[in-house]
Amino acid sequence: MQNLNLKDKNLYYIGGIVRDEILNKESFDYDITYVGNAIEFCKNLEKNNIGKILQINEPFGTVRMLINNKEVDIASTRDEIYPEKGHLPVVSDIGCELKKDVLRRDFTINAMAKSTLTNEIIDYTNGLEDIKNKTLRVLHDNSFIDDPTRILRGLKFSVRFGFSLDNHTKKLQDTYLENINRDMSYKRLKKELIETFNLNKQKAFDLFFEQKIYKLLSEKELKKPEYNIENLVKTYPVKHVWLVYIGWIISDNFSQNLHQNLPLNLPQNIPLTKDEKKIIDDYRTLMDANIDSDNYSIYKNFENKATEAILLYTIMSGKDYGLKYFKIKDIKVKINGNDLKNIGISPSKKYSDCFDYILKNKLKNPDMTKTEELELAKHFFK
Ligand code: ATP
Repeated sequence: MQNLNLKDKNLYYIGGIVRDEILNKESFDYDITYVGNAIEFCKNLEKNNIGKILQINEPFGTVRMLINNKEVDIASTRDEIYPEKGHLPVVSDIGCELKKDVLRRDFTINAMAKSTLTNEIIDYTNGLEDIKNKTLRVLHDNSFIDDPTRILRGLKFSVRFGFSLDNHTKKLQDTYLENINRDMSYKRLKKELIETFNLNKQKAFDLFFEQKIYKLLSEKELKKPEYNIENLVKTYPVKHVWLVYIGWIISDNFSQNLHQNLPLNLPQNIPLTKDEKKIIDDYRTLMDANIDSDNYSIYKNFENKATEAILLYTIMSGKDYGLKYFKIKDIKVKINGNDLKNIGISPSKKYSDCFDYILKNKLKNPDMTKTEELELAKHFFK
């Protein structure tokens, strides 16, 4: 952990950053908590030229500051209550004692604090012991009912650190998955799905099925596709890795709703961006298409489809057409409409038929030159 040179008896590193330091792993963000009013504390820091306030979130009592060129989140200690189970909690008791702030967290390994003044580790829930035993343990029996996204967080930490759920936590998870409250925040669930599957670990997918965590997304019994997705993604890197793993489940939900004439924004659907929707649409188009095994049919069907969708198709159809497409996708017709005009052919709808005719030939003979393409064009219009 890079030292921020920030010392105060009320100031603690908290959560992931403490866990990562104990595990000797690099931490991505700096979470610091102030026992009391963090906003006042940060205003004072700014006054004394120790840092610059970037953003204040008044209702949450949190501040984002720039200290030693590093963005740091400093939060007032707080409690959280879940009046609507599965939805965002309501903040309460801002400035409360440290223990309350710690007890609102997900797993014991994420519930440790480290004093900035004395470097003492404050460990109310035996997080150190659980780290030693590679164990993930929730802090109370209602944890997954309050916030089912913790199930995915558990999966993410299992895979990242090679930890396992303790027996009681596993039982609580099983019980929740047998009786899911579907009225939950799918936006939060999506964030954790992305973080889990973007790790590109087959192990995460295996556990997702072994532990039936997929039930958070589907009311049906699902079977895990037998494909090594981790290797596939290593060979064909993509931005939205998570969709290569679970896009088919999301697509299934969409078609089910379409089928039943239900609106597409039902809560059981993960909210998608435009790019993500295109991936799901492309995947569905590919699954519905009649694709022949010849290069031209493959090229035409896969052209302009998102790579994620092609990988999904490969996994779910068991056919290698998509992988064949990757080998031929850079074959392009070089001549354009101007070239056709220049040889005296006036523009018409037949232009595109001509380009297809040339493409068909070029797929058989990829080294074809531009001159040879023009010869073919002349032959086409003869
Ligand atoms: P990562 O390294 O993936 O960022 P992290 O543990 O730092 O892991 P954050 O999402 O940044 O995860 O959360 C910071 C801390 O906030 C966690 O360590 C945990 O103490 C607490 N926290 C995060 N999400 C939840 C949740 N859903 N329920 C309870 N506590 C949570």
